[in-house]
Amino acid sequence: MNYLQHPNISAPFSGQLDSVDRARASQIGKVFLVGAGPGDAELLTVKALRIIQSADIIFYDYLVSAEIRSLFPKTTPAIYVGKAKNQHSIAQEELNQLLVQQALSGFTVCRIKGGDPFVFGRGGEELMELRSAGVESEVVPGITSASGCATYADIPLTHRGVSQGCTFVTGHAEKSLDVNWSALAQLNHTLVFYMGLTRAGDITRELLNAGMDSHTPVAIIENGCRKNQRNIITELNDLSDAVLREQVQSPALIIVGQVVNLKAELALVIEQQAMSLSA
Ligand code: SAH
Repeated sequence: MNYLQHPNISAPFSGQLDSVDRARASQIGKVFLVGAGPGDAELLTVKALRIIQSADIIFYDYLVSAEIRSLFPKTTPAIYVGKAKNQHSIAQEELNQLLVQQALSGFTVCRIKGGDPFVFGRGGEELMELRSAGVESEVVPGITSASGCATYADIPLTHRGVSQGCTFVTGHAEKSLDVNWSALAQLNHTLVFYMGLTRAGDITRELLNAGMDSHTPVAIIENGCRKNQRNIITELNDLSDAVLREQVQSPALIIVGQVVNLKAELALVIEQQAMSLSA
């Protein structure tokens, strides 16, 4: 499918903006690489919202939630340049050129992507390209999905006496995962796997081989910070089975570590309070 015909495009885009749009465009273009956060529109930063509202053109990817897309002004061309797994609507080089071309034409461009642009978001690569082409550009950080999803699931990523750190790992790889598993297993702190769904079996096997306890608690969080967020709580030895059994869909995060148990502890506190109030 031609990306310009993607059903999610909220306004027609002919590749050229008309004269009215052109008049709106500022003299010196600029590209903002904006983090949209994990889904809930209320997790957008004030700055992100301001750029969405004032840009001449918006380029968005598949992780930008429908709720956030509904905030795009109806009069601003919004182009889908998504990168769902195996469904690249546009090549990265083509997109980079498009951003450069729009900015050099004098437009303020909002390139918005899920979470934080600098966390597994290719924000660094895009920024490098833009700056190499002499385009003024700025990155607006967003709440990364590890932070948003864990928080909405009542799982603190670190907790005094439970986990003194947190490591973000990508489960995305062309072939085998290039990760130092024994180092990860020995950290004894929270591990968050992005893009790990199709690699759940490898993650389980490698962590077990590296000596991690098979009963280590695990949370799989699907559609985090959206109305249909689903939290699946299990143990490391059941991770890949749980992904299949529960038919977990993308986007989903995998959190491994003792902090996952805090979810149940926090729920217990609420229960005990309710019981003491009704007693
Ligand atoms: N830049 C993004 C990450 C992009 S990589 C960020 O900072 O969050 C894409 C991966 O992020 C997905 O495969 C999934 O593992 C995770 N992810 C992004 N949004 C998510 C959401 N709302 N719920 C669960 N996982 C999410």
